Amino acid sequence: MKIDGSCHCGALTFEAEIDPDGVSVCHCTDCQSMSGTAFRTVVRVSEEDFTMLSGRPKTYVKIAASGAEREMAFCENCGSQIYGTNAGEGPKVYGLRVGTIRQSRQLSPKRQIWNQSAQPWLSVLDSLPRIEQG
Ligand SMILES: [Zn+2]
Ligand SMILES: [Zn+2]
Repeated sequence: MKIDGSCHCGALTFEAEIDPDGVSVCHCTDCQSMSGTAFRTVVRVSEEDFTMLSGRPKTYVKIAASGAEREMAFCENCGSQIYGTNAGEGPKVYGLRVGTIRQSRQLSPKRQIWNQSAQPWLSVLDSLPRIEQG
């Protein structure tokens, strides 16, 4: 499936060819702190299927739980996170942040990872009052 997206301010734009079955929710604590919210929704895409169309993301390198270095890319102007990928040499696999993808409503997650650190209150969302706008 062909997708495209951008950061909030529009400086960074990208396109990719993704497998919609590759969408995951990640409950790891790094995703919680870096996104500032309860979990992150990600779709994996390999290097040859991902293209930055405009702008150059700023990167931050973190050490993953495995000990590997992960390069986290975001817009230095508006702060939107675009992807995380393996740092250093070798073919890259990008974890695109689904909230930046224009077709995000079609990208329903197929699995949840790092469930051990999931917020315990996620299951109550379905039972909360719903207000259509802020
Ligand atoms: Zn931006
Ligand atoms: Zn995570």
